[in-house]
Amino acid sequence: MRVLVISDIHANLTAFEAVLEDAAGLWDKIWFLGDLIGYGPDPNECAELLCQYDPIALSGNHDWAVLGKLDISTFNAEAKAAITWTRATLNEQTRDYLKSLPAMRIEGVFTLAHASPRQPVWEYILDPYTAALNFDFFNTVYCLVGHTHVPVWFEEEDVYQVVPRMPEYGRPMHLPQNRLIINPGSVGQPRDSDPRAAYALLDTETLCWEYRRVPYDINKVQKRMRACDMPSRLVNRLEYGW
Ligand code: ZN
Repeated sequence: MRVLVISDIHANLTAFEAVLEDAAGLWDKIWFLGDLIGYGPDPNECAELLCQYDPIALSGNHDWAVLGKLDISTFNAEAKAAITWTRATLNEQTRDYLKSLPAMRIEGVFTLAHASPRQPVWEYILDPYTAALNFDFFNTVYCLVGHTHVPVWFEEEDVYQVVPRMPEYGRPMHLPQNRLIINPGSVGQPRDSDPRAAYALLDTETLCWEYRRVPYDINKVQKRMRACDMPSRLVNRLEYGW
């Protein structure tokens, strides 16, 4: 099966549409790793579009926060403002959809978690040390995560010996037999200094993985965010990819 692996759409419909167009015809199923809403101006539109494809989908910390399942006192001021705006904007259909999503699940040799297998909605796997500790918390060969908005894969070469690998775009890679924790990056708010939407393609039979990036009309999204009175830091960061 060919899988479109996406994460952290964050209510950015324009970026999500660009990914779907770029990947058209190349996948059979969507695996979405959570954070459908928060930050962007189009939460209901993103939910409606995602649902059309009957995806395997997870919920993330922003999804939980909007539903009141997570204390937002630890969120920064801009993230809090976005959550408050999103709460007021969500329609019932989107709310019900978010409520139905699990935080973690297993698909064949892949564990899917929004943040980490150890803490599925909260922990950031940003370094090999944190990744190494997380290999004890899933039983499949591979684990796919989002949450950091940074595309990377962590390979366990030996027990607690983990090597990070940065993405090479447009070059499909064979997944090694070593265990991996892989992040496809973020569709709607990349944070690796590359403002293009990030996603990946995975073939579950050949175990081929391809990191991809696609530009989208950032200006168009920023205009909609300004019209919703979103904090300017959230508006500006999209064009820098941080
Ligand atoms: Zn996120």
